[in-house]
Amino acid sequence: MSNPAQRANKLFVQTFGTLADTLYFAPGRVNLIGEHTDYNDGFVLPAAINFHTIIAIKRREDSQFRAVSDAFPGEMKEWTFGEEGNRPESPEWADYLKGFSSAMAISGLATKGMDLAIVSNVPLGAGLSSSAALEIAFGTAINDANQIQLSPLAIAQLAQRGENHYVGCACGIMDQMISALGQQDHALLIDCLDLDSEAVSIPENLSLIIINSNVKRGLVESEYNLRREQCEQVAAHFQLDSLRHLELADLEAAKDQLSDANYRRAKHVITENRRTQNAAWALESGNISQLSTLMAESHISMRDDFEITVPEIDFLVEIVSSVIGEKGGVRMTGGGFGGCVVALVDHELTDAVVEIVEQQYLDKTGIEATIYLCSASDGAKRLDN
Ligand code: ADP
Ligand code: MG
Repeated sequence: MSNPAQRANKLFVQTFGTLADTLYFAPGRVNLIGEHTDYNDGFVLPAAINFHTIIAIKRREDSQFRAVSDAFPGEMKEWTFGEEGNRPESPEWADYLKGFSSAMAISGLATKGMDLAIVSNVPLGAGLSSSAALEIAFGTAINDANQIQLSPLAIAQLAQRGENHYVGCACGIMDQMISALGQQDHALLIDCLDLDSEAVSIPENLSLIIINSNVKRGLVESEYNLRREQCEQVAAHFQLDSLRHLELADLEAAKDQLSDANYRRAKHVITENRRTQNAAWALESGNISQLSTLMAESHISMRDDFEITVPEIDFLVEIVSSVIGEKGGVRMTGGGFGGCVVALVDHELTDAVVEIVEQQYLDKTGIEATIYLCSASDGAKRLDN
């Protein structure tokens, strides 16, 4: 049985011995452009993808939650609303759910409990944000089943708070926002300063391809924190709260007063913000050659100025770009030091992209890549059971 909705219903019945009331759905995501700009109050341009998490639920009259997931067979997790306790030392899967309910309780919101069966085809830990898909499916379920009337943005904010404070992951708001607010065939231009967002249509002739380098990511957290610090240092130098309102000309004028690394970090953020807005306009107007240029420049900026790519990722971008030319864009996506490459390419070139990766990547690196052929999908919603 491959249909995830049927699998969620079945897992629910097998676990709890009764039928579920309702199913909720939330997608994973990919960021098309705008890397390391979120925590600098800048712009990002993610799309929700057709890999998703589905939760079958039944409301309870008490405050208990009981959850199972097909990703962790045989593990039933239980907790009481408002009694999630302190942040666990080494977080496990149910802590993404407890983080959400705990964030609700801390915000003064109330809810009854639920029994939950979770089924997902978002690969865990592959950079497609299975964690946000899980949190947002859960948040949407609690909100809808209890008629709490939170907006999708409010659900995303609670999910981020849960992941930051309870799970202990210092993520931005992008993953949760796109999982909650995605629209089919659209990307979402998010202004991380005021969380304003705008749907941007993706031209019909483009395929969305994600290639996981499967490079084992090391040093991610320490390097991520270091980049954040360097950005903050430059903002502080200019007595600004963030790099959002720093002009490139002012950065250039102060180049001698900054370390070379800090100068290049800030240059990436300032130029990436501009590229992200321009890429949204290029997509909206179907200007693929401009999109191609902007994604190429974004990759070079991440490689040379922000220094977050690795040779395997640079190689993937190089070979994909050699077959797509100006008929699509390709760049690393995600925090860096491994992870995935995203390509938006004319449908007719999809096979050529898959072929060149299969022919050359393993030979060159000794690692097998995983390729996901995606489409931009809707954000979280209730499904008809
Ligand atoms: P990513 O979000 O990039 O996939 P993370 O490390 O942020 O990677 O989140 C992965 C973790 O989220 C998993 O290890 C697991 O704890 C939790 N998780 C995600 N999806 C599920 C799921 N369907 N069932 C249970 N836990 C999940
Ligand atoms: Mg995650």
